[in-house]
Amino acid sequence: MKKILLIGTGGTIASQVTEDGLAPELTSEQLLAHIPAISQICQVESLQLLNLDSTNIAPAHWLRMVRCIRDHYNAYDGFVLTHGTDTMAYTAAALSYLIQNSPKPIVLTGAQKPIGFDVTDSKANLTDAFRVASSDMPGVSLVFNGKVILGTRAQKIRSKSFEAFSSINYPFLGVLRDGVLLPYIRQDCRDRPCFSDQLDTSVALLKLIPGTDQALLDYLLERNDALIIESFGVGGLPDYEGADFCGSVCRWTEKGKLVVLTTQVQNEGSDLGVYHVGHRLKDVPGVLEAFDMTTEAVTAKLMWIMGKMRTQTEIQRLFYTPVAHDILWPAEE
Ligand code: ASP
Repeated sequence: MKKILLIGTGGTIASQVTEDGLAPELTSEQLLAHIPAISQICQVESLQLLNLDSTNIAPAHWLRMVRCIRDHYNAYDGFVLTHGTDTMAYTAAALSYLIQNSPKPIVLTGAQKPIGFDVTDSKANLTDAFRVASSDMPGVSLVFNGKVILGTRAQKIRSKSFEAFSSINYPFLGVLRDGVLLPYIRQDCRDRPCFSDQLDTSVALLKLIPGTDQALLDYLLERNDALIIESFGVGGLPDYEGADFCGSVCRWTEKGKLVVLTTQVQNEGSDLGVYHVGHRLKDVPGVLEAFDMTTEAVTAKLMWIMGKMRTQTEIQRLFYTPVAHDILWPAEE
């Protein structure tokens, strides 16, 4: 029987009703007490790393999760992390960059309703996560509502109902039906994982609206080394009376800052070259394009790359190098 480590970090799954709303209070031991039949699937040991609503999860917590998995890596066959759903996709992406090529499954899960509620998705999600962690599906994944999603491709798409996550621009790795895991895709892995323990968090995100004040862009680029801009459609920057986003981006990138253009449209990604509003940015040094990557993956990838490299050329090369199938186009085309 496989030996799995359950690492509790909080979230709705571990929450209880308080006077001020739901708050994560249950320990990972207490979560396990709700699914006694798990002993027929695997042998579980547990530890409590954090107990936070995932709104409060920050990059420093991702590094703590990585350290915890690295410290226990040899002693277990797989890992389950319980986590709040709100930022779980960011954590799944971050762990995918910080722990690469893991031959052992590292599975994130959570729930939309606390484990103590009569109607809850907690027990099914947690049990499914242990099934995947006990399987031979390597690498970082997110298990939710019967779907196994690649860590770099997950995105929260519903704020209340059980089908809370989608796999963006990539198929599900597998599904779970009536307690049986049906694996569709197996991630690549090597004999040993590669752990990183550094992140540079000087990254900001600007979501454009029609008429965005250009001063916002300058403000964010003054204070950060990299700015992700979620623009419209396949991508581009506005250029209207009194504003020249393009000129501003060029000035900042000349000073060594990085700008990643992405889209606020959930599926199919960016393609800057299509329209004049984007085409003029295509070959500007320091301006990158997200293509089919999620904003969550772009955020975590930039922090991971900038934690180890500084020059625009090095960062650009690594940004377009696929990690855990985070980007398929144009690199793998
Ligand atoms: N606010 C909660 C969290 O992200 C929501 C959840 O877990 O579903 O921690």
